[in-house]
Amino acid sequence: MTSQQEPKFENRNSKIASSFEFRISIFVFRSLVTCHSSLVTISNVATDRKTPAVRGSIIVISAPSGAGKSTLIKRLMAASPGLGFSVSYTTRAPRATEKDGRDYFFVSRKVFERMARRGEFVEWADVYGHLYGTAHKQLQAAQKAGQDILLDIDVKGHQQVRQRLPEAVSVFILPPSFPELSRRLRDRHSDAPEEIERRLETAREEIAHWVEYDYLVVNDHLKDATQALRAIVRAARFRRPSQAGRVEKIIGTFGG
Ligand code: ADP
Ligand code: 5GP
Repeated sequence: MTSQQEPKFENRNSKIASSFEFRISIFVFRSLVTCHSSLVTISNVATDRKTPAVRGSIIVISAPSGAGKSTLIKRLMAASPGLGFSVSYTTRAPRATEKDGRDYFFVSRKVFERMARRGEFVEWADVYGHLYGTAHKQLQAAQKAGQDILLDIDVKGHQQVRQRLPEAVSVFILPPSFPELSRRLRDRHSDAPEEIERRLETAREEIAHWVEYDYLVVNDHLKDATQALRAIVRAARFRRPSQAGRVEKIIGTFGG
């Protein structure tokens, strides 16, 4: 190979290279444009996720202990895909069947009180001598995702939620009678006799709060009570405040 040929070769090579580079540049440019438009789409989706068309409902359920609230909530959750459950924090010790992070976040009194001081709870209360609270972050995540979320909290917690989140929907569950409540608590075999007595005494005070709730469900027959709860959750999705985002979009299409 001569010294003259080399530049030619280089020249040809550089032409090939430059045309190759050009094509690569076009390809990269096109990819960037495609990528950018995908990113725009993704960011729009992300924005939409932040402001969902239909805002998730907050549904509070309260009942005196033993009325069947946990049983009903389990059935309701199983029958309502997409319905979230707000896992509370508590200082109570876990029961044999309970799992940390699923039933409650079990924390020490020190941790709970620190969270309360920092304002991390939407509401919290002392129930039967233990502290229970709903963390803001549980509700915020659900609302951002447009997901309905269920809060299983006591009457004091409900009063705080009502004040801070007036759009929440609330349901009070009543047992068919006091003797039946007593029977259910005893037959459940989950609490000591003195604890059962304490819960029954508290029940007498708690039932006076039924008037503060939007809906009342008597848990006589499990099937009927579950159906009533399902109807309430469904109806909550159609409440005006839940649909404000969606309506704004529709109204926007009317112009003006
Ligand atoms: P809560 O969560 O309100 O304390 P549970 O869901 O643990 O109450 O129910 C208390 C007991 O009553 C449980 O043993 C449950 O199986 C029973 N129970 C719940 N609902 C009914 C019902 N409609 N009829 C008869 N027993 C019921
Ligand atoms: P348990 O110890 O039987 O699971 O619950 C006792 C009571 O505490 C129930 O009435 C339940 O609704 C209530 N509770 C559970 N979590 C919370 C919470 O986050 N806040 C309040 N205020 N009450 C709660």
